[in-house]
Amino acid sequence: MWTATVFTLFPEMFPGPLGVSLAGEGLSRDIWSMEARDIRAHGIGRHRAVDDTPAGGGPGMVIRADVLSASLDAGLDRADSRPRLLLSARGTPFTQARARALASGQGVVLICGRFEGVDERIIAARGLEEISIGDYVLSGGEIAAMAICDACIRLLPGVMGAEASGVEESFEAGLLEYPHFTRPRAWEGHEIPEVLLSGDHAKIKAWREAEALRITRERRPDLLKRR
Ligand code: SAH
Repeated sequence: MWTATVFTLFPEMFPGPLGVSLAGEGLSRDIWSMEARDIRAHGIGRHRAVDDTPAGGGPGMVIRADVLSASLDAGLDRADSRPRLLLSARGTPFTQARARALASGQGVVLICGRFEGVDERIIAARGLEEISIGDYVLSGGEIAAMAICDACIRLLPGVMGAEASGVEESFEAGLLEYPHFTRPRAWEGHEIPEVLLSGDHAKIKAWREAEALRITRERRPDLLKRR
């Protein structure tokens, strides 16, 4: 079963929003599973301290390497070959292609930072890969971990009703998606484009391709260059 193991200071956040709708149904049907491990269980002393001040000074706190390694070593099997992703604003950008690759594997290990982040030494010592969900700073890795899980889970066989609706979407062909319409045919004076009501499937396909290209050119010319 595809399994996400999440290391976090806030295990009560999981599965959270992944427990409802399509992902939630997949969870109760055992298509995927999730375990949230509390890093604080390996904290130091009576107060279970997990962080300390940054070497060299400066604001904030840093999650200790010894605490995080103890948590990872206790929670992961040596033979576990799932990718170990450290959520990080400095990481490699997460993409739809990566979601597909992760969804086709055994699952994923996600390590959520908090405060200023984690002691740098843990990254190489435990084979972590830094991954980012975008160019902005979150207060913790948990919401980023959920975003990554959500993007993977919807691709698992059996999670989405119509299997086909996974392959025509934004990014799958290196383009943004064409616009959608549904009833009523006229709404506040706006009509559904005539071609979509024509029943001519070749014409509809051509219109959708042209729209996808137009929208991508307008909004994300970088995607066209990469294509
Ligand atoms: N000092 C760090 C930000 C720390 S934010 C910096 O300047 O890069 C606290 C935690 O939130 C991080 O350790 C990371 O786990 C998570 N986080 C913040 N932004 C993120 C992003 N864009 N993608 C993934 N995780 C992020």
